[in-house]
Amino acid sequence: MINWRNALGTALLSLGLIPSLAQALPEEARIPGGIALIPLTGIHSDLAPIAHYAGQRVMVVASKESTDNADWIAVVGIPLSANPAEAQALTLGSQTFTFSIAPKEYESQYLTVPNKRHVDPDPEALARWKRESAEMNAAFVRWSAPDQVADRMALPLEGRFSSAFGLRRFFNEQPRKPHSGLDIAAPTGSLISAPAAGEVVAVGNYFFNGNTVILDHGFGLTSMYCHMSAIDVAMGDQLNAGDPIGRVGATGRVTGPHLHWSVSLNNTRVDPLLFVEGK
Ligand code: ZN
Repeated sequence: MINWRNALGTALLSLGLIPSLAQALPEEARIPGGIALIPLTGIHSDLAPIAHYAGQRVMVVASKESTDNADWIAVVGIPLSANPAEAQALTLGSQTFTFSIAPKEYESQYLTVPNKRHVDPDPEALARWKRESAEMNAAFVRWSAPDQVADRMALPLEGRFSSAFGLRRFFNEQPRKPHSGLDIAAPTGSLISAPAAGEVVAVGNYFFNGNTVILDHGFGLTSMYCHMSAIDVAMGDQLNAGDPIGRVGATGRVTGPHLHWSVSLNNTRVDPLLFVEGK
């Protein structure tokens, strides 16, 4: 039997109108820092509907074989700051889909940073960081529509997971923002490679993040690579999965050489391992 919806999807895809059918969605975890997969039941349209969460457009992919009787599934990044006591709202025009999230207790981590300026930045450093944040934010809020959805990722680097995503952090005993990525420790110079196809949309040497690259994978999915000793790409480069990005280093606010890897959906940093199969 012909699956007409898939056939239609393929036809529209060839016209560049909708994201491709999801091969494997990221793992769902309806917690702060996780991902919600919301079936958009009752929405019957040939083109991917436009959905928003917390003011940001969210990824919507065609469901495989009418999962939950829905043609489309929203892939929603949930911020670490989300309040589990509140209903979360996804909006499609005047329509609202609500979902709840469970609380998650992330562990605390106490780090000693030798460069005190990285813990108590002076006004000059703060001004620099503000400019850099704006540059990075512009990359995180991008919306592009490549032919494929990068719904699964490989690890960008083999190494020890030295700091998990979501840790509540204290630098030199002072509370700071929770850990918005996964740290992978490896010797300086180790090769970091693209975990999925993407475009290079930010390259910089930043105060906290050191040598940094941001990739845009499309539909609000971006990933960031920090603290590198060397950068192997330039703005606008189109990378395939496995292409080199740069080398492990210890630039910016670090206690040793490692890669800080962030993955962002709808301008929300989520646990990168939700995209990695068999991690
Ligand atoms: Zn980190």
